[in-house]
Amino acid sequence: MNNSNALYIVATPIGNLGDMTIRAQEVLRLVDIIAAEDTRHSARLLQHFQISTPLLAYHDHTNEAQTQRLLDRLISGDNVALISDAGTPLISDPGYRLVAMARQQGVNVVPIPGASAVITALCAAGLASDRFAFEGFLPAKTGARQQRLEPLAADPRTLIFYESPHRIQESLQAMAQTFGEGRQLVLARELTKTFETFLSGSFIEVLAMLEADANQLRGEMVVLVQGYSAPSSEADSVDPEAQRIMRILMSELPLKQAAALAAQISTEKKNKLYQWGLQEKN
Ligand code: SAM
Repeated sequence: MNNSNALYIVATPIGNLGDMTIRAQEVLRLVDIIAAEDTRHSARLLQHFQISTPLLAYHDHTNEAQTQRLLDRLISGDNVALISDAGTPLISDPGYRLVAMARQQGVNVVPIPGASAVITALCAAGLASDRFAFEGFLPAKTGARQQRLEPLAADPRTLIFYESPHRIQESLQAMAQTFGEGRQLVLARELTKTFETFLSGSFIEVLAMLEADANQLRGEMVVLVQGYSAPSSEADSVDPEAQRIMRILMSELPLKQAAALAAQISTEKKNKLYQWGLQEKN
């Protein structure tokens, strides 16, 4: 360990133990204590790498006083590592409060990078990777989920979500409704593990693949959605208010009917609205 002590944020594998970096092993061996989300789970990882550093529980429910006790150890000269069950701590995992408080109190925070499902999925999905938005887990409740999805519908960046197998179909259906059934996505499953799979296609196609093969509903998964691409010229000129009306109507009605009704409500022509709707769905 170097002479100034620190809080080390250490990434661990997301499935394949071969992805544990040499630096991560060294740090975990040399720190005074390892704060872990689930100490029993992490004990198995440490055992595999023959690391005998003591473990201490740190999770989202750890209160401020307990967090402060950990920081006090750092302030008094101990080296502490933070790990989560898998991947990079703080990425849809505990640690944010600890790191924020550590920085506020002048504690040295050192990242030890390694696996994270979001980047692992993105680098092999074949979707644009120059700009992306990581959205973590969607809320479980329908209304809250919809509220999160709607502002993303016109986001040009690749959208990345974590999802659990028991909610995947429901979430994909909600996304299909909001982003358009024709929008492309990639479902990256069991990354770095034996049954690693990438399913790609439109929402309709991927939902059909899941319906046809229950094995595709197993394990851990990342959903990557192609960013919105601005519709071409004619549709561009559709009045924003008419677009808003169309989106509402399209969520309840077939496109043809939605365009006919929106034409009566707005000043736009039915056919133009229909074309706009087609592009929107795609
Ligand atoms: N901190 C982790 C990281 O850096 O990726 C993420 C932790 S979060 C609690 C767990 C979620 O990450 C899973 O539900 C899944 O969406 C995603 N995930 C983790 N490991 C994965 C894997 N091997 N394959 C696909 N997705 C994975």
